[in-house]
Amino acid sequence: MTLDYDIIVIGGGHAGCEAASAAARLGSRTLLLTMDMTKMASMSCNPAVGGVAKGQIVREIDALGGQMGRITDLTAVQFRMLNMSKGAAMWSPRAQCDKTRFSEEWRHTLENTPNLYIWQDAATELLFEGPDQTPQEEFGKRLRIRGIRTRMGVEFGCRAVVLTAGTFLEGMMHCGDAHAEGGRAGDAASHGITASLQKIGFETGRMKTGTPARLDARTIHFEQLEPQYGDEKPSKFSFSPETEPVQDQMPCYLVYTSPEVHAILRSGFDRSPLFNGTIHGIGPRYCPSIEDKLRTFADKEQHQLFLEPEGRTTNEYYLNGFSSSLPWEIQWQALHKIHGLEEVHLYRPGYAIEYDYFPPTQLYHSLETKLVAGLYFAGQVNGTTGYEEAAAQGLMAGINAHRALKGEEPIVLQRDEAYIGVLIDDLVTKGVDEPYRMFTSRAEYRILLRQDNADLRLTPLGHKIGLISEKRYAHFEKKRLNVELLVAFAREQSVKASEISDYLKSVGSEPLTQGRKLYDILMRNNVTFESLKKVLPKLHRFIDAHEIDAEAIEEAEIQIKYKGYIEREKFIAEKLHRLENIRIPDDFDFFSMQSLTIEARQKLSRIHPKTIGQASRIPGVSPADVNVLLVKFGR
Ligand SMILES: Cc1cc2nc3c(=O)[nH]c(=O)nc-3n(C[C@H](O)[C@H](O)[C@H](O)COP(=O)(O)OP(=O)(O)OC[C@H]3O[C@@H](n4cnc5c(N)ncnc54)[C@H](O)[C@@H]3O)c2cc1C
Repeated sequence: MTLDYDIIVIGGGHAGCEAASAAARLGSRTLLLTMDMTKMASMSCNPAVGGVAKGQIVREIDALGGQMGRITDLTAVQFRMLNMSKGAAMWSPRAQCDKTRFSEEWRHTLENTPNLYIWQDAATELLFEGPDQTPQEEFGKRLRIRGIRTRMGVEFGCRAVVLTAGTFLEGMMHCGDAHAEGGRAGDAASHGITASLQKIGFETGRMKTGTPARLDARTIHFEQLEPQYGDEKPSKFSFSPETEPVQDQMPCYLVYTSPEVHAILRSGFDRSPLFNGTIHGIGPRYCPSIEDKLRTFADKEQHQLFLEPEGRTTNEYYLNGFSSSLPWEIQWQALHKIHGLEEVHLYRPGYAIEYDYFPPTQLYHSLETKLVAGLYFAGQVNGTTGYEEAAAQGLMAGINAHRALKGEEPIVLQRDEAYIGVLIDDLVTKGVDEPYRMFTSRAEYRILLRQDNADLRLTPLGHKIGLISEKRYAHFEKKRLNVELLVAFAREQSVKASEISDYLKSVGSEPLTQGRKLYDILMRNNVTFESLKKVLPKLHRFIDAHEIDAEAIEEAEIQIKYKGYIEREKFIAEKLHRLENIRIPDDFDFFSMQSLTIEARQKLSRIHPKTIGQASRIPGVSPADVNVLLVKFGR
């Protein structure tokens, strides 16, 4: 055993597990230091992965060679493709997972990764080359990380650290009048790291999030509730052929609040830490507690809630939509008034948690901190919320920490390449004013950033980085080629009106008056390759002869149906790329540019964008300021 590593990852949550796995697989000698190794990638809140925009992120993580998609497939208990009634850009995979299995599978993966070592302990202090206690401005040059110290008194040396301490930094939990230190229910808080970073000049802030009660299935009247089943033909997250869609799916159930439930909840408002000033941290607006919902939508008579199973071998159910930090007995009384839950036993009440985060404008796009060379931040510590957002940052921080040690350029995904690119660019250029979660509306190029094409967008990069194996890449190449073949076939093949008239009528489409290319027919609503195969033997033969699978067929069809939109977005993205290519020197003094507004000078000096594209997205930098920068640096 050695005490010196290339990279130390602090925290075995969703960010830390991806970071450690990526860094070690790329060849860095990596230590994953975490407070409890039986809780790797523990799902602190709901037992689900994916959803709108988040599902796209998971598929991107998978295409780059990360693990979240594979582990979700291995541990799923239900799979649904959300938004199938909308356009392909909105289709979003989501899976309910067996929470314990998810964590076990991660632990198994990490324990069997070469170059990766685990140490169960808490980091309490970061160590720097240069005086550890001196703010950087006084020290005069950029500090460099050299190691960490732990609660057990061990000092580890390293050349890079990825900090992924989640909701644990100075964590404080609240449930009504009860307040307790902790990183989440059942886990201790993490002390020392915030102070050690504040001392050298890092800014910190406070955020909060909350979680609902967990219920005992034996005391729920499922027979009276409306079940919500998974997809009849479930799909999966990983593009790898090594995982299979979920079998034996478990249902979720719908339940509803009522005016009676609301009255009980309201009776506890004066003891709510959210409303009586106890909680100061900023919470997620889009993921409100039930008490927030009652305040915001005061006239609404009922709210829909989802009962989600936490696993196959447990009776624990998660009550999605009922996040609360009201006193436990108020939660309990209110739950008993919900139809189907009249006799419910609680495993634990809902609670809120406040924790420290670091405003992410203190980071470069590589996720390395501007203040300390070799120190990277990923996950909830950057002001985000959600397992998927955390895992994506962890993966990129792990990759970039490894690359920096090898003297290689960081991997920075662009906004038209990946939701992960949008996420990191938003964080480091705009900062956060509430826990940041991904939405499709945050992306300018939604039609380009679909879940179905994440592999086409990113697998070549994952292969180049070194996280996608040759075998997996060969599988990907076959799909890519098959999509191209099928699109080309559709372009070339003419179809006679007589061959297809009955079929077109049957799907509610105008019959042809003369022969048309297959491609044009496929652009119509309700016309699919799958149904056309039945009436066009030559199409059937072509698909069989080239062994084109369902995934490639779906991809080819989306490319044909959305061609116009895809090309338009590509055109706009290329135009904006020109701004991304105009670089601003690292040491440029924005205050010397009198023609910029004062606000722009302040914001630009603080964030120091590397390109005019990045500068243009900083709130407070106006189009007129961008023009000034273009005159200075543009061609
Ligand atoms: C009560 C609660 C409610 C939540 N509600 C939601 C929600 O509604 N929606 C949502 O999207 N997300 C929610 N989350 C957030 C979700 O859990 C996180 O977004 C996600 O887990 C973040 O992943 P992470 O890897 O950044 O950190 P975490 O998953 O928090 O993992 C942090 C890891 O770091 C370890 N660690 C911490 N400090 C140290 C140290 N000093 N030394 C060694 N190890 C350390 C911990 O043991 C843990 O393994 C909630 C979390 C909590 C606790």
